[in-house]
Amino acid sequence: MTPPDAFVAAATDTDSGAAAGSGAAQEVLRRVFGYDSFRGDQREIVEHVVAGGDALVLMPTGGGKSLCYQVPALVRPGVGVVISPLIALMQNQVDALSALGVRAGFLNSTQFPDERRTVEAQFVAGELDLLYLAPERLRLESTAQLFDRGKVALFAIDEAHCVSQWGHDFRPDYLGLSMLHERWPDVPRIALTATATAKTSDEIVQRLDLGSARRFVASFDRPNIQYRIEPKNKPDRQLLEFIRTEHAGDAGIVYCLSRNSVEKTAAFLTENGVSAVPYHAGLDNRTRAENQTRFLREEGLVVVATIAFGMGIDKPDVRFVAHLDLPKSVEGYYQETGRAGRDGLPSTAWMVYGLNDVVQQRKMIDSSEGDAAHRRQLQLHLDAMLALCETVSCRRVQLLNYFGQHDQQPCGNCDTCLTPAESWDGTVPAQKLLSTVLRLKRERGQSFGAGHIVDILLGKKNPKVLQHDHHELKVFGIGTDLRDIEWRGVVRQLLAGGLLAVHGDYGVLTLTEASNEVLFDGRQVLLRRERERPTKPARAVKAGKAAAPEMASADLPLFERLREWRAATSKEQGVPAYVVFHDATLREIVARKPTSLAELGSVSGVGENKLAKYGEQVLEVLAGE
Ligand code: ADP
Ligand code: ZN
Repeated sequence: MTPPDAFVAAATDTDSGAAAGSGAAQEVLRRVFGYDSFRGDQREIVEHVVAGGDALVLMPTGGGKSLCYQVPALVRPGVGVVISPLIALMQNQVDALSALGVRAGFLNSTQFPDERRTVEAQFVAGELDLLYLAPERLRLESTAQLFDRGKVALFAIDEAHCVSQWGHDFRPDYLGLSMLHERWPDVPRIALTATATAKTSDEIVQRLDLGSARRFVASFDRPNIQYRIEPKNKPDRQLLEFIRTEHAGDAGIVYCLSRNSVEKTAAFLTENGVSAVPYHAGLDNRTRAENQTRFLREEGLVVVATIAFGMGIDKPDVRFVAHLDLPKSVEGYYQETGRAGRDGLPSTAWMVYGLNDVVQQRKMIDSSEGDAAHRRQLQLHLDAMLALCETVSCRRVQLLNYFGQHDQQPCGNCDTCLTPAESWDGTVPAQKLLSTVLRLKRERGQSFGAGHIVDILLGKKNPKVLQHDHHELKVFGIGTDLRDIEWRGVVRQLLAGGLLAVHGDYGVLTLTEASNEVLFDGRQVLLRRERERPTKPARAVKAGKAAAPEMASADLPLFERLREWRAATSKEQGVPAYVVFHDATLREIVARKPTSLAELGSVSGVGENKLAKYGEQVLEVLAGE
């Protein structure tokens, strides 16, 4: 097979202008990746970088960022250097590129010195198209010398938000990236991220000295993901029910806050017939790597993880992302949920959330290191997250708004759109609750947590109430019109709205300035009605075999045969099934039933290398051998 560089060299050698670059880029896209056309801004980005320009690319997960630097790296002379924090995934990325016939290598701390030397020699000899590099390697003078000995086509800075201290993934090594521009001013740089509020992207520009770079901002909408947030009562049971009814047999990620709940939840799912593995920083490296590899390679495995898992996981067929605990920020939430449905097929972002989440997060902020300004920042992140949870309007509108995309219409594919939330006038209950907090403070000099306050409102003569003589308070038993669970909902929503505050290890409730408006100035409080059993959204997507939603039933056996062939092939080669062919590609093959290599080669996702490698075998499966 012709190495990709050989056929593009002709175009770049004669003319490095954008027009020729464009033709060459199109050619690479078709021959190497097997795609007919660029998506969205890809063409413009690629042409801009091929012509030597700097770029900042903000595109949601699954938007197609990789091609934005991979294609220019193949078109421009030299090696594309990709800075990426995803050390554990570099081997996977290199495997996936190799399957396309692209010459790729990586340099990071997991390698033996002789492996590293081999890759370095390949780089210097120009025998690579792409080199993945861990950011900490930039601190080494030997890395700079290496760049000087070879030819760098471009620098791609992946996960560029890691340079931002405002963001949630800060990596100190990323600060060193500004030196790329200083030392190699002529090499174009392209910084890419899926996480960027205006604030984060400004910080990226400033820290990476990308002031004159062209900004490409794609829509952050992920229309194939259905967003749902439900009240938490028995999270494990709720999760199991969700998986059983909507995502049986699907690959998914479940996020929990603590290592302990990760372990417990994984065990619970396994006991109940869902194959699941844990992933968190407390596991030894080998187990972690093994569980990650299983997730990538097997079909239908669930990973239960802390946020230590997932960045850069480019498995295209993750059908759901579930949160059993409240994420710390909307940025984190969107990044995590974005790992669902990269292939564009229907997927679900599902979360349960309750009063304890608010109390716990608040506690973490109170006890966090750093100064008051830092804690205020954490609180702002949390407030935005709470506002998303409590909104009675479209979740997607709120999310996109957060990322600076205003004037959106309700989406029709989130829980509040599908089963509109009812609101009710909670002013009187709010006043009852706030005045209980106030009386305890004024009359007794005491502060208590939500559970005790609710017990007083409900008139419960339990030991703690009796011990403190709280049954003698005037407010004792004034709240019997609501049930315990409803009161907890009131507390949660008052906290989320800043009408009440929670502090310290015991989660004691205190009043805020806004509480006084409710108590004394007649401020109205609208609350979201708690649904005990959330009705399942009308259009909830039947997943299970979501990979083939519109396939004619007569074609299913053929699809299954192709999947079996793919499973055997990927196993033999030790790569994930999607590295052989994506589901979308198999589906197109089934729909078109090509009878020749030429026809097969025109299917999206079948590039030259894969055609040469697998073409005959696929035609045999199609012929029914
Ligand atoms: P990101 O890095 O932005 O999350 P990827 O680069 O992994 O996204 O791309 C997401 C998916 O879309 C991948 O499966 C990729 O192969 C596919 N893809 C990207 N660009 C195109 C295109 N122009 N045509 C067809 N498929 C594409
Ligand atoms: Zn909506």
